[in-house]
Amino acid sequence: MTVPENPAEESESKERVAHPFRTLRELVDFVSGKNLPTPETDEGLRSESLPFPFLAIVGQKEMKLALLIGLINPSVGGILLVGPRGTAKTTAVRSLLDILPKVERSLCYYGCLPEDIEMNGIDAVCPDCAKKFAEGSPLSALDRVRLIELPLNSRLDDVVGGIDERLAVTHERLRVRRGILAQADRNLLYIDEINLLADDIVDAILDAAAQGSYTVRRGPISATYHARFVLVGSMNPEEGRLRPQILDRFGLRVIVRGLDSLAERLEAYRRVQAYLANPRGMTISYSEETLSAAEEIQSARARLPKVILPDKVAKPAIKLVRKMGIDSLRAEISWFEAARAYSAADGRNLVTVEDLHAVAPMTLRLRRSAFMADYFSSQGGEENEMNTLLNSLKRNK
Ligand SMILES: [Zn+2]
Repeated sequence: MTVPENPAEESESKERVAHPFRTLRELVDFVSGKNLPTPETDEGLRSESLPFPFLAIVGQKEMKLALLIGLINPSVGGILLVGPRGTAKTTAVRSLLDILPKVERSLCYYGCLPEDIEMNGIDAVCPDCAKKFAEGSPLSALDRVRLIELPLNSRLDDVVGGIDERLAVTHERLRVRRGILAQADRNLLYIDEINLLADDIVDAILDAAAQGSYTVRRGPISATYHARFVLVGSMNPEEGRLRPQILDRFGLRVIVRGLDSLAERLEAYRRVQAYLANPRGMTISYSEETLSAAEEIQSARARLPKVILPDKVAKPAIKLVRKMGIDSLRAEISWFEAARAYSAADGRNLVTVEDLHAVAPMTLRLRRSAFMADYFSSQGGEENEMNTLLNSLKRNK
């Protein structure tokens, strides 16, 4: 990721202007001035069939930014939203539905993709796909990322897959049934109340997310599935603890708080009322911006492979991570990947100190074991310390 800087890259820094918003941040901010639709009788669409528009969520900038970064660059390694009830965590995740990007999706049961062959040769795909590839048939098609929610009552067999019992009984054949993780390949996997999920299930999910694949062994048979998904977890710390090692395995960690300002709270109330009265009207009212946001995300994803992090920007950042006493290598990986996504969203190919600064809190907070032990009480102190260090990073530029 870190490559020597190339001055030629700088010239194409700011080339795109197709939208009224110059940056992703501007787009997210834009909506505060948006007029509300007049609540009218709904035309029969139930509210749950239309998500609350992502851009209509008042405040919560860091949460929105973290989710957008996760959509632009799945390599940030998952997003954890920590906060009390009623802070729009679940609403925000479900509202991503209308801005999810399109990806190459495998046409095969095992999730084989042409890029697997490019990277690891023909043995990296199943025999059927190897044959298709040799014949020049497509292995994948462009399809929108899906939002898959993991139910809290899921069993390990539901998650990773188990023996297909129906096939075993009726056809006397043994095959492993695809689990939720395999279905989540190239999609977004959302787990609400992740802290209440059984440890073995959380471990299986995190392992699969880290490796991008997993193998199920049941007696004499085994099957390997792709599991390249963006993991989003949310939790209310008042309802149960989350193991510290799980905290560290999420690339981005956002502390979601209730809105403080009276004006924001009132605006949030009005928008929720407008949505409940007329979900379709609300969706239409934000449709133009929603479409722009979806296009921005798609183009940022296309740009991402070209975005480079110069050594002179990366080195002081690594020093800062050490200064904070963070041992986990995941800290800087997530930090740098988030900064690349941020830069891509801004239409640039070169990561700057400002990009690192913008995404630092969500990637660095709650990384130290001492802080993890009692993170809510220590949180204020950690944020202050982090900001002081980050400001020194800017000064030393
Ligand atoms: Zn295949």
